[in-house]
Amino acid sequence: GDFANEVDTLVIGSGPGGYVAAIRAAQLGQKVTIVEKGEIGGVCLNVGCIPSKALISAGHRYHNAKHSEDMGIIAEKVSINFDKVQEWKASVVKKLTGGVEGLLKGNKIEIVRGEAYFASENSVRIMDENSAQTYNFKNCIIATGSRPIEIPAFKYTDRVINSTGALALKDVPKKMVVIGGGYIGIELTGAFSNMGTEIVVLEGGKQILGGFEKQMATLVERRLKKNGVQFKMGAMAKGVEESENGVKVTAEVDGKEEVFEADYCLVTVGRKPNTDELGLEQVGVELSDRGVVKIDKQCRTSVSNIFAIGDIVEGPPLAHKASYEGKIAAEVIAGEKSEVDYLAIPAVVFSEPELASVGYDEAGAKEAGFDVKAAKFPFAANGRALSLNDADGFMKLVTRKEDGLVIGAQIAGPGASDMIAELGLAIETGMTAEDIALTIHAHPTLGEITMETAEVVLGTPIHIV
Ligand code: FAD
Repeated sequence: GDFANEVDTLVIGSGPGGYVAAIRAAQLGQKVTIVEKGEIGGVCLNVGCIPSKALISAGHRYHNAKHSEDMGIIAEKVSINFDKVQEWKASVVKKLTGGVEGLLKGNKIEIVRGEAYFASENSVRIMDENSAQTYNFKNCIIATGSRPIEIPAFKYTDRVINSTGALALKDVPKKMVVIGGGYIGIELTGAFSNMGTEIVVLEGGKQILGGFEKQMATLVERRLKKNGVQFKMGAMAKGVEESENGVKVTAEVDGKEEVFEADYCLVTVGRKPNTDELGLEQVGVELSDRGVVKIDKQCRTSVSNIFAIGDIVEGPPLAHKASYEGKIAAEVIAGEKSEVDYLAIPAVVFSEPELASVGYDEAGAKEAGFDVKAAKFPFAANGRALSLNDADGFMKLVTRKEDGLVIGAQIAGPGASDMIAELGLAIETGMTAEDIALTIHAHPTLGEITMETAEVVLGTPIHIV
């Protein structure tokens, strides 16, 4: 027989959106079931944020070991055992995914393996290889994430790979063509070029890392070029031919056709929401043209007991945004008056130097009608940055001119990914540049750069004239 299971809240997908939503819903007294067709932890933990950062770290260690002569470090015979790198990376992933599974169980959340498909506004069918069962729910949170876009002329194979394929490579490639200079392509370019891969990046636009200020992207580009990475801007990738042990990629660069040979062609041209195989149409959950689920400020879809979060809804496809929305959706279901507020979603690129941004950039603030005062401070004027031998970069604070209210910040430099948190807090709590300038920051730290940039806003920096 096929008896329906009854739950309060059903969560579909166990990525950083789904698992966080499930835990918060359980904390708030809901009986929760989470469904996962793949691996617990979703893209982020298994084939996204975490394994990419692991490879990036390995790349840094190797590169720095070989290139610290200016600090008096002479290392000979430095080599990579890439099997071991991959083994270590997998162990990091396993610790985290195991941890998440433990947290779900610890919160008494039922984990069901299988693929969910809407049968009605109040029920899903969950299918795995051998069985199908029905779950009736009061509320549902959809967190099915996204997948790499596949362009027709670049069907994925063993040699034409997406980010998942790149993270799973068995050897460090000798040569690679990367199509798309967004953050995923650029992070992987950094990791592999540090490990010795010769890379050509084909970018359709005028600059890599399109969401960031040109000056920030240029710092990254310059550092990668030092590693031998070549950039072709305004490049239209046309097609790829596979040979026995490589690829030939054809692209139009400045109106001229060029051919690039490599071991692999990595395609990182964006991701698309997993909203096409859920039966959403049947239950009346509205999608936009691009296939993202329409939601209100409470993450509610057009069907009042169905919520959607993460990569399948509007906004930057980032793990922390998915988790944030997950908490809001769970709280709304539990009867709280929570709403999303996207004032300060940080965006980080784990490049060299790291890039980070939160709130408005200068141009965006002006467009939004602010009378802006922006100020910059270089990492090269910071003792800690110099003692790290890593002083390439700057911080920029964007403030409201009349009162110095912090409305945005951009950082390019080592530690940017962590430093941006203080600025997010400043924006969220309505701090002014003066508040930051009056906060004592430990010496010698990169954090002092934040204090000094605030001083620049006030016109009284100590360490630059
Ligand atoms: P996902 O993590 O995609 O999880 C969705 C889950 O739902 C999957 O496990 C899937 O199997 C499951 N699922 C789908 N359909 C069904 C179904 N019908 N039934 C059951 N289960 C289903 N973001 C950052 O913030 N920082 C980073 O540094 C970063 N680095 C990245 C690096 C790479 C290489 C990639 C690819 C992405 C990176 N991201 C990063 C983006 C981040 O991974 C995503 O924004 C995040 O994973 C989205 O979370 P989510 O919960 O919406 O969905």
